[in-house]
Amino acid sequence: MPSALITGITGQDGLYLAELLLEKGYDVHGLIRGQNNPRRALVEDLVPDVTLHNGDLTDLSSLMRAMRDSQPDEVYNLGAISFVAYSWENAFVTSDVTGMGVLNMLESVRLHAGDDPSSIRFYQASSSEMFGKVQEVPQSESTLLWPRSPYGVSKVYGHYMTINYRESYGMHASSGILFNHESPRRGPEFVTRKISQAVARIHLGQQDSMALGNLDARRDWGYAGDYVEAMWRMLQQDEADDYVISTGETWSIRDFLDLAFAHVGVDDWAKHVTQDPRFMRPAEVELLIGDASKAKDKLGWTPTVSFAELVAMMVDADIAAAKAGW
Ligand code: NDP
Repeated sequence: MPSALITGITGQDGLYLAELLLEKGYDVHGLIRGQNNPRRALVEDLVPDVTLHNGDLTDLSSLMRAMRDSQPDEVYNLGAISFVAYSWENAFVTSDVTGMGVLNMLESVRLHAGDDPSSIRFYQASSSEMFGKVQEVPQSESTLLWPRSPYGVSKVYGHYMTINYRESYGMHASSGILFNHESPRRGPEFVTRKISQAVARIHLGQQDSMALGNLDARRDWGYAGDYVEAMWRMLQQDEADDYVISTGETWSIRDFLDLAFAHVGVDDWAKHVTQDPRFMRPAEVELLIGDASKAKDKLGWTPTVSFAELVAMMVDADIAAAKAGW
């Protein structure tokens, strides 16, 4: 039975990936941080067959211990401080976790693997936020990186460190440059989930309005369940490589609002939405659209859930949650 260690197991992608790997017959291990992590119960509830190990991306010795105790064939490094807005206010800790944390993971894999560094396959969660100030449309694996936030800069560091360990030590280290992907498990601080939760509550008469930032920001949004499948496929290749994972479509926040409100029968949503400068980014990323043709050709990967289906799925899940009083 192959075994895998996932960092960021309590996050959106960690949970979907754990489910996927369990379905495929893996022995799945997850890294969990903090002395009393409130999301431990969620993991134990949703994926009870995962073995949890205490550890923190900023603490190399804890990562070495997790490697020793889980003996993984594959390591998926999904852990990060992942909220771009937070990264401006907490640039040092973001750099430590999202940037240096990758180096700690690479070192723990390399040291644990010993004489054959390629014997453990490594996945790094890179991001379309690395493109930031966009140099070409659509963006591919060869597009120049120009990050526009401390989060994006930290991801660039992790991305190049992953490539460097592959080239320097022959590690089987791949990097997935994933464009935005959402689901009912998306953290409520992210704009898509903020909208789906608010629309559900407005529909049920539990809330009247929501405050958002830039309604014209555009993203290439996919479904998280599809994207974890791409991560797994990358690690099944003979050669490690970097891949853009995206839908190739771009939609604005306004489009998301149109679809979410239409799903509950509201056409004129303007009276429910205010704009608040506090939610504007100091530096906005520009037109993000991914070119995932390499992933299609080499991994046979394509997205299966459309943008409209994704929005409906999120609103429906939040209506059910609001009715249940969650
Ligand atoms: P989430 O924010 O949902 O999850 C982040 C995870 O990282 C959580 O499990 C969190 O644990 C963990 N974490 C935070 N700090 C530490 C630390 N110091 N040590 C160990 N673990 C830590 O992110 P997603 O699941 O959405 O994303 C997964 C990865 O993919 C992230 O690296 C993200 O940056 C990247 N990515 C995501 C995209 C998206 O659209 N979702 C797009 C491109 C890249 P805790 O619960 O304890 O806070």
